[in-house]
Amino acid sequence: MVIDFHSHLASKKIFPPSFTNEVIDSFETKSESEKKVVQHLLNAGLSDHLGSGFLEKMDQASIDLSVLLIADFGVALGEPELALESIFELHKEVLDANPDRFIVFGGMDPRRGLKGVELFEKSIKEYGFKGLKLYPPCGFELDDPGLYPLYEICNEFELPVLTHTGPSLRLLGVEKNYPSSILKVANEFKKIKFVLGHGGARDCKTTIDTVKQRTNIFFDISTFQRFITTEEELNTQFREFCDSCPDRILFGTDFPMFLLSATQKQLVQKIAGLTSITSAEKEAVFYKNATHVLKLDVRK
Ligand SMILES: [Zn+2]
Repeated sequence: MVIDFHSHLASKKIFPPSFTNEVIDSFETKSESEKKVVQHLLNAGLSDHLGSGFLEKMDQASIDLSVLLIADFGVALGEPELALESIFELHKEVLDANPDRFIVFGGMDPRRGLKGVELFEKSIKEYGFKGLKLYPPCGFELDDPGLYPLYEICNEFELPVLTHTGPSLRLLGVEKNYPSSILKVANEFKKIKFVLGHGGARDCKTTIDTVKQRTNIFFDISTFQRFITTEEELNTQFREFCDSCPDRILFGTDFPMFLLSATQKQLVQKIAGLTSITSAEKEAVFYKNATHVLKLDVRK
């Protein structure tokens, strides 16, 4: 069984244009015509608004369940085509169509204020969303007082909170209080399981140090293929994870961020092919730890 703990709906309607433009720029295309090709491919790839293409790719990769994370970029980067309320509704539609294949985490910028808290609460109580996604590079810290009402809800319902860690777009900022901010809130909200998005891909030393200080902090490995490039490095790093914090590591792809460079299937195969960790350790990475964080009852 495989659970992808870090993915996003491949729809350009939910990303601000400035976000997709920077993704296009990151391809370092040499000419205008190359840029146009990338733009065309990205537009085509990001037209899967209801997730049917996503499901096909999950099937090809033998991914049973994907956690779809809503990232709220609107306050920092300008609103995307869909307003946040509509983005939540779109995800509800995707979830309702395939409740056994998707789990949705609502994303919220604390500067949305009371309206944001109400929308998030509604998504938990009425839409069946199962967690919170935070994106601090948008311009806030994890111990921002504006996040506390959201944490209260997650704590009450014992729902996980996944936060982006590390650098992001050049347009955005960098967290200043990490990791002390996450250590602080993880201590204050003990019923929340916090997940460090990309924690297993870059700055892995900080990740290991951080999760060891709390029992309720986990990390996903999404974007690993970009930062841990050789097979040898990958084997060494995963051995270290399994020696130091085997119950905290979660598989994730960050699809569709790498839709033009790697398939979900390739990412699954890379981890399945590791020689430095045992098959029991791979099971923990692929789904056992995730079922614990998501409180899923899975017998497989
Ligand atoms: Zn992501």
